[in-house]
Amino acid sequence: MNSSLNAARRRWELDEAGTDVVDVLVVGLGATGAGAALDAASRGLSVAAVDAHDLAFGSSRWSSKLIHGGLRYLASGQVGVAWESAVERDALLRFTAPHLVAAHPYVLPLTPDVPRAQAAALMTGYRLGDALRVAAGTPRRLLPGPSRLSAGRALALAPSLRADGLRGALLSWDGRVVDDARLVVALARTAAAHGARILTRCRALALAGDGARVRDELTGDEFDIRARTVINATGVWAGELTPSVVLRPSRGTHLVLRPGALGALRAGLHVPIPGERARFALVLPQADGRVYAGLTDEPLDGPVPDVPEAPESDVAFLLEVIGTALDRPLSRADVAGAFAGLRPLVDAVDVPEAAGGRTADLSRRHAVLRSPDGVVTVVGGKLTTYRRMAEDAVDAACPDARASRTARLPLVGAGPVRPGAPGRLARRYGSESWAVRDLMRADPALAEPVALGITRAELVWAVRHEGALDAGDLLDRRTRIGLVPEDRAAALPAAEAALAYA
Ligand SMILES: Cc1cc2nc3c(=O)[nH]c(=O)nc-3n(C[C@H](O)[C@H](O)[C@H](O)COP(=O)(O)OP(=O)(O)OC[C@H]3O[C@@H](n4cnc5c(N)ncnc54)[C@H](O)[C@@H]3O)c2cc1C
Repeated sequence: MNSSLNAARRRWELDEAGTDVVDVLVVGLGATGAGAALDAASRGLSVAAVDAHDLAFGSSRWSSKLIHGGLRYLASGQVGVAWESAVERDALLRFTAPHLVAAHPYVLPLTPDVPRAQAAALMTGYRLGDALRVAAGTPRRLLPGPSRLSAGRALALAPSLRADGLRGALLSWDGRVVDDARLVVALARTAAAHGARILTRCRALALAGDGARVRDELTGDEFDIRARTVINATGVWAGELTPSVVLRPSRGTHLVLRPGALGALRAGLHVPIPGERARFALVLPQADGRVYAGLTDEPLDGPVPDVPEAPESDVAFLLEVIGTALDRPLSRADVAGAFAGLRPLVDAVDVPEAAGGRTADLSRRHAVLRSPDGVVTVVGGKLTTYRRMAEDAVDAACPDARASRTARLPLVGAGPVRPGAPGRLARRYGSESWAVRDLMRADPALAEPVALGITRAELVWAVRHEGALDAGDLLDRRTRIGLVPEDRAAALPAAEAALAYA
């Protein structure tokens, strides 16, 4: 089947969803839900998947974009979790999304705040992480091993580091997805290609073991979707639909720094947080020239908002910590934007049967839980392990289904890239980059840049093939222009014009 998602397909699939009985209804289209829709559809099951808003509307678009090998879990003795992360990273790098996920280098500056013993322990950790890479089968050419750098070499990679007192650096590598929201879009489209109905702007109002009451948020119409089994993959909102699942969300804030705020940065940075032995702030240069800096970890009190705010206290904290490693402190003027996301940490689970996952440290490991009404909830975990979460959820929901195929199933765009494709397009569209380019060739007006090198053609592509239904979908999820308010305002007319190409 065709992988293209658009308003016309949504309309006719919505009509069918209200009349058929599907094998699996998935609620929530973040990485976990889109992954579950793909896992189930690729096993030959009929699938409907709904999201109250858009693909990647929730936590999945607010991540640090690390596809990590689980080093920090290794450090705390959770070898199983670290191993699972390394295996999933390998699948993404080698088989499922090699166009979207690649190795990225990180420099940890050895400042006077990092004692020699700590530096030695960190290097041992990196080497253990590299051993996991080998065991998972990831070749060194895709993910190089760690090394020690001289101060001069560290400054060549990150010229804004404070040279005074710098005795060198540790260089490590980990996976990174070019854009977390794009990964979700690729998952949803691949699921659609296997026959799943992907229905955005459809809010589940109530779940039962045999379906859900759903409201079309565009028309206000309510209807039932009937299903043989239901998977709740609504992340931090899971408890609103399945009250027996109790979450304790934690807010993580990132800054978006203006291009050039940290000079010509050729690697990410792990900046030691003064007074903490094993916590680091991250500086994450992006392919579009922006630099993200994160990450806070604050418990959220009260109701879960649709879009969390990044408070000024988080901004000030991050500026201060990152500034400790730099020769010029950062100021508020270096901050072009900020975003916050909520980690779906499992607090306590009041259900009789855990259908998978261990109860120990559920906040790190994912949990698959069956509530008394038969709904299977999958929650916790992380972006990196979405595929395993999805597999476990479908195994629990559909015990008689054939085995999961997703560990080696390439996502849309993962095919060979024709030589000569522009690098930026190849990194975001993979084997589809030529089709995007053909749009510009057919209509040169579409070659006009909108922001960050993104052309009007990419917006039109998103409307026709990636399920973008409004300007917010285009600016905030199919592209990330919207992370900087003034860029968003400038690009809004182009986004609105692109919607006419539906
Ligand atoms: C700040 C931060 C940084 C992170 N960094 C990383 C990282 O670098 N690497 C990593 O591997 N992981 C990272 N994570 C973890 C990772 O982002 C999350 O674990 C993961 O994205 C959760 O995905 P999900 O699909 O379970 O939930 P979500 O992405 O939140 O998806 C849930 C979806 O459910 C929908 N929904 C809610 N209610 C309803 C309803 N009633 N009806 C229909 N739909 C509904 C929402 O609209 C949403 O789209 C980070 C998390 C945070 C917060």
